[in-house]
Amino acid sequence: MSKHIDIINKYESVVRSYVRNFPTVFTKAKKHKMWDESGKEYLDFFSGAGALNYGHNDDKMKQKLVDYIMEDGITHSLDMASIAKADFIEKFQEVILKPRELDYKMMFPGPTGTNTVESALKLARKVTGRTDIISFTGGFHGMTIGSLSVTGNSMKRQGAGIPLQNTVTMAYDNYVDHDTLVYLERFLEDNGSGVAIPAAMIVETVQGEGGINAARFEWLKKIEEICRRWGILLIIDDVQAGVGRTGTFFSFEAAGIKPDIVCLSKSLSGYGVPLAVTLIKPELDIWKPGEHNGTFRGNNHAFVTATAALDYWEDESFEQSIHEKSEIIYASLQKIVSDYPELKGEVRGRGFMVGIASEVEGLASKVAEKCFAKGLIMETAGPNDEVFKLFPPLTIPKEDLEKGLAIIEESVRDSVKDPVTN
Ligand SMILES: *Cc1c(COP(=O)(O)O)cnc(C)c1O
Repeated sequence: MSKHIDIINKYESVVRSYVRNFPTVFTKAKKHKMWDESGKEYLDFFSGAGALNYGHNDDKMKQKLVDYIMEDGITHSLDMASIAKADFIEKFQEVILKPRELDYKMMFPGPTGTNTVESALKLARKVTGRTDIISFTGGFHGMTIGSLSVTGNSMKRQGAGIPLQNTVTMAYDNYVDHDTLVYLERFLEDNGSGVAIPAAMIVETVQGEGGINAARFEWLKKIEEICRRWGILLIIDDVQAGVGRTGTFFSFEAAGIKPDIVCLSKSLSGYGVPLAVTLIKPELDIWKPGEHNGTFRGNNHAFVTATAALDYWEDESFEQSIHEKSEIIYASLQKIVSDYPELKGEVRGRGFMVGIASEVEGLASKVAEKCFAKGLIMETAGPNDEVFKLFPPLTIPKEDLEKGLAIIEESVRDSVKDPVTN
């Protein structure tokens, strides 16, 4: 073990997690590759859990950021006006919102995913005067108290140390064999159900941490209809599924819905620097000035790279390339599932947000472990880590995508041969 890992193991809290699955010290990263201290090269099929959809250290974003720093551009300014912020807002409106006929005000909460979720929950309660939020089985929304209260995972919920209140969990799409929305709506219409009309529902269109569960478009449309019918606000948490991961900038575009509030973070800055935005329908923008405040709201360095990242979305070629490559991924995963029945696998997800769920306990983790040894970084997801989750950068060239898929296939082959006994 290297000296650097020793220092981390000795002094960093035991709460550390990813370093346990990927026990090496990374020194350099470019696009879809990372290198460690020993010079070993890795293909990155993890992408910072979806924070690096454009890969590591994109040249154009880096140049813009370096120029901005060298000119002593404003780094920290609370939410005073800066050119970096105005440029980002303008370009986001022009390149993302207007072509999609979406009209949102942009609120900058603290720079993380959980910060945008907290602001969305708070605003929904303020606008409606109601207290409850409906969330869904398998949902993950962040680690602060409000976000945990709408998160499913029991280990994470218990970490709160207090009762998590004012939320009701309903069944996500395909959670049970029958139509989960018939059941949900019955609760809303029945005065004897024990469930009050909530302020909002918070939904991921594809659940990332929850195990790559993709809701059907019809299900999402129906959720929107139910929300409209009952005057409930619809919050889409697009922190992980957004910014191209499912094939379109927003994950909900293909479903044809228009959420009241949208949460974005992870890949929003494009460069892996922290940035979050809460998009809110103009009529909901009823905050008092400073009512939701914070020291690091809006981050000028992130605005600079985020503005450069939007270049990818100026025409349709990027979406087209995501689509083409995602077909390759999907076909390869289908083949793995049918070639290795011992895996008892099921392909899940949409676009570049896919994985294989294995019914064999411990097998998904084993596959990820073997991949790491062979130079591919991939994580697992789901309540029992039963899914191995492919998250390569959207910009990965076809050849290296195929190389990575071959490593995954080999790792599956080795894992099913060598049953989980250790
Ligand atoms: C990662 C994630 C969050 C939390 O983001 P942090 O930056 O880790 O606070 C919230 N929602 C979803 C869907 C996520 O994937």
